Amino acid sequence: MMPRAAKLQRYTQKRDFNRTPEPKPKRHARSKKKHPLIFVVQEHHASHLHYDLRLEINDTLVSWAVPKGPPRTTTIKRLAVQTEDHPMEYAFFAGTIPEGYGAGTVSIWDKGTYCNLKDTGIDPVSMEQSLHNGRIEIYFHGHKLNGPYALVRTAYGDDKKKNWLLMKLKKKVEHVCD
Ligand code: MN
Repeated sequence: MMPRAAKLQRYTQKRDFNRTPEPKPKRHARSKKKHPLIFVVQEHHASHLHYDLRLEINDTLVSWAVPKGPPRTTTIKRLAVQTEDHPMEYAFFAGTIPEGYGAGTVSIWDKGTYCNLKDTGIDPVSMEQSLHNGRIEIYFHGHKLNGPYALVRTAYGDDKKKNWLLMKLKKKVEHVCD
């Protein structure tokens, strides 16, 4: 597992914390006590409006920019471009980022908890492993996002490793952690 400071290096390098109101990563990680995993979707009016989906995986927020926003129905798939990991504190951030990286206003579009649908059965797959494999299946407990979703890495696009598709799944889920 990559140390937290290394995972957040790109986040820190891109920002000047004397200028931006965005949170500076704190030195200490969240307590190891078991808690429900959180997610947030931020509506970001930058040069192009997009929605930033962030999932808590091992004490950081793994992030994707979703230009058209997360799908609310099972009939559409949306492009989700993986961006730099963000610190956990970012889940609470809303405000205006001044000129520079990511300039524009950020508001919280949805927020809640999620569970890993692959973390069951005889051969459970952790979130970190799912991320590595390029196939994530989770259940969102949010206000706008509710139900089973998948994020699947695709081979298309300029940077093969960064493009994913976000979709709502049709399947019935029997066991839903919360
Ligand atoms: Mn953004």
